[in-house]
Amino acid sequence: MNLTSVHEWGFFTLPRPMVIAGPCSAESEEQVLETARGLNAFGIHVFRAGVWKPRTHPGSFEGAGTPALKWLQKVKSEFGMKVATEVAGARHVYECLKYGVDMVWVGARTTANPFLVQEIADALEDTDIPVLVKNPVNPDLDLWIGALERLNRAGVTKLGVIHRGFSTSQKIAYRNDPIWKIAIELRTRFPELPFFADPSHMGGSRAYLQEISQRALDLGLEGLMIESHCDPSCALSDAKQQLTPPELKTMLESLIVRDNDTDDDAYRSGIDALRSRIDVIDEGLLAALASRLEVSKKIGAYKKEHNIAIIQASRWDSILEKMIAEGEKLGLSRDFIITVFNAIHDESVRVQKL
Ligand code: PEP
Ligand code: MN
Repeated sequence: MNLTSVHEWGFFTLPRPMVIAGPCSAESEEQVLETARGLNAFGIHVFRAGVWKPRTHPGSFEGAGTPALKWLQKVKSEFGMKVATEVAGARHVYECLKYGVDMVWVGARTTANPFLVQEIADALEDTDIPVLVKNPVNPDLDLWIGALERLNRAGVTKLGVIHRGFSTSQKIAYRNDPIWKIAIELRTRFPELPFFADPSHMGGSRAYLQEISQRALDLGLEGLMIESHCDPSCALSDAKQQLTPPELKTMLESLIVRDNDTDDDAYRSGIDALRSRIDVIDEGLLAALASRLEVSKKIGAYKKEHNIAIIQASRWDSILEKMIAEGEKLGLSRDFIITVFNAIHDESVRVQKL
């Protein structure tokens, strides 16, 4: 992907985390300006507010629409903040461009729809504003990457992502399931994409904002998008998950930002020593796996000679039960042992067939 570094966007001042904050929805001029004033007072410079809201049920507040864009203009002129909102189609993009919105994001429901993403990408052609892409509602990494590719092909180089968790039918404490491994995979594939977490929509409740934000920082993500409302109890959408600006300040101050890397010599020699130990153990594991496979091959040949079937389920079940019991004594989890030994068994069956 052809990307412009986030440091050249002129939006965020270091250090980490880069924070985007503001209400779920822009509800009135007073609410927008009062929230922005509270955020600006402690150094938040990028303001979010939903202007068009994708709601599950009809009849819920669906956003103030185009008039709200004038309130965002006031946030820019009064406080010098950058403003961002969600777009879900070409018309939204044109309205945003007309009113000078600085950055847009593609919401989770829209990322899941390639027709709409393409329409947004086409509408953004020849513009220069940054676009953040939330993960699709369903845990499909390719769909997320596909949306990024569509925008990038249309010439959007100021691109970033927002991880807001995935819909799930399982009963979990959070509103959306983080499935962090999908975020980590995306991060590994595109390390240069600025990466935000959205603890508000992931947690769905004020109670989880701190732990999710800390987790995101511990995983090395660069930014947070958090909902903040001057009076959350009166919010017309997502009331349970919003913080007042002073509460957000306190929460952000409680976060521990760990360095992604460091030049500190003491740390370096400590981590190098531990990594060397891991390397030695990994070599031992490889050697053990190779000799186990050698024996498997011999067993395969021996079974063939005596006309015996390769897979003998009862023998495998008893090995696995024994390994689980032994492993648990050593502090290894049952799931981990099952995963490792099933992989070993599959390979063993494969070489016995050769
Ligand atoms: C939002 O940011 O207010 C929003 C609707 O988010 P999502 O697309 O993650 O549901
Ligand atoms: Mn919301």
